[in-house]
Amino acid sequence: MIVLRSDAEIEEIKEAGRIVAATLKKLKKSAKAGITTAELDRIAEEEILAQGGKPAFKNYKGFPANICASINEVVVHGIPSSRKLADGDIISIDVGVKYKDHYADAAITVPIGKISEEAKKLLDVTEEALSNGIEEAVPGNRLTDISHSIQKHVEANGFSVVRAFVGHGIGTKIHEEPEIPNYGSPHRGPRLEAGMVLAIEPMVNAGTFDVEVMEDGWTVVTRDGRLSAHFEHTIAVTKDGPEILTVA
Ligand code: MG
Repeated sequence: MIVLRSDAEIEEIKEAGRIVAATLKKLKKSAKAGITTAELDRIAEEEILAQGGKPAFKNYKGFPANICASINEVVVHGIPSSRKLADGDIISIDVGVKYKDHYADAAITVPIGKISEEAKKLLDVTEEALSNGIEEAVPGNRLTDISHSIQKHVEANGFSVVRAFVGHGIGTKIHEEPEIPNYGSPHRGPRLEAGMVLAIEPMVNAGTFDVEVMEDGWTVVTRDGRLSAHFEHTIAVTKDGPEILTVA
C-alpha cells in the first residue's frame, strides 16, 4: 500500500528535506582533493545534529556511518573511510535525515577538480534523468512513467541504468512502498495520486548496468570497473505537480 500524506505530514518531510539539502550543500563545498570521506561523514553528522535532525542511515540495517560516500566505480553504499579524494574523482554522496517523525533522502554526485569529459557527461545525464523522472510524478500518470523517462534519457546518451537498486516511497520509514525502478515500460504500476511522497534516484553507469557487492557487504561497484553516478530527490506528488522536498 502506498501511504497518502497530509499537508502537515508533507511539511515535516520538507523540514527533514531542508536539513538534507543544507547538509549536501556543505558537503559539496567541502569535497576537495585531499579530504577523506570519513571527514565528510563527520561534517555531515555535525550539520544534521546542529539543525535538529537525526542521521537516518547510521545503524540502518547495521550501516556504520552517517552518509554513503561512493567514489568513481562505486555505485552506492560506499562506507566513509580514510581514503582521500583525488583530483579527477567523482563522488556520490547520499544523505538521509529523520526530523521528528519523518524522513527525507537525497543524493548528489560531485566532481573533484578537473574530471574527464565522460565523467562530466555522466553527471549531467544522470541529473537530467532525475529531472525528467520528477516531471512525470503528476497525478494520473502511472509509476513506471517515471521509470521509463529515466531509462530513455540515460540510454539515448549511451549509458546504462542500474537494475539492482531502485527508488522508493518515503515517510515515517526511510524505505516504504512503492519500489521505483529506473527502467521499464511506461504506463504500468499504480496510478500516482496527490499525497504520495517518493524518493526518485537514478543510478547510472558509464558501461554495463551489472553491479556487484564487495566483501564488506555494503559497497556496490560496477562489474566492469567503469564510473557510476547517482542523483536523488525526495518529492511530493501534488495536484499542482511534483514538489521537490529536498531543497534548502
Ligand atoms: Mg533513497
